Amino acid sequence: MKEKILISSCLIGQPVRYNGTAKQAHHPVLTRWQNEGRLVPVCPELAAGFSVPRSPSEIADNLSGEEVLNGTARIVTDTGQDVTSLFLSGARIALALAQQHKCRYAILTDNSPSCGSTTIYDGTFSGKTHPGTGATAALLRQNGVEVFSHTDIGSLQKRIDGF
Ligand code: SF4
Repeated sequence: MKEKILISSCLIGQPVRYNGTAKQAHHPVLTRWQNEGRLVPVCPELAAGFSVPRSPSEIADNLSGEEVLNGTARIVTDTGQDVTSLFLSGARIALALAQQHKCRYAILTDNSPSCGSTTIYDGTFSGKTHPGTGATAALLRQNGVEVFSHTDIGSLQKRIDGF
């Protein structure tokens, strides 16, 4: 059976980001994996009920997705609205989808408070990032899904295809 891969919807061209844009990834293996039916797209924020466009959100206080999951960090919009529960809902939906499709791997968009897996914005809405994960990436990892940044698709290709 071919390995299925959970992937952030915006990476395959869906205009689902907060500002109505996509973040198309251009790694050549993605086209092949898509043609092979391996990709399982999800946008945790849309799945949770957010619309496009929506207010930008960040994990507050320089914290990370693990703290969001254990209840010690909040996710807020640029106007200070607490949207933590919606982000947690999106993370759970993404995990359920990964489990339904038996995905052992995910490729997620870095810097996002949902999908970031190596860096995220620091909560000041000033464009500064720090090492950390979004809520969805953290929940997937806690449940055994190996998460790769969209900047590191080559590492997943080596893992799956062996080259
Ligand atoms: S939540 Fe993830 S999939 Fe949705 S727009 Fe943000 S980075 Fe892309």
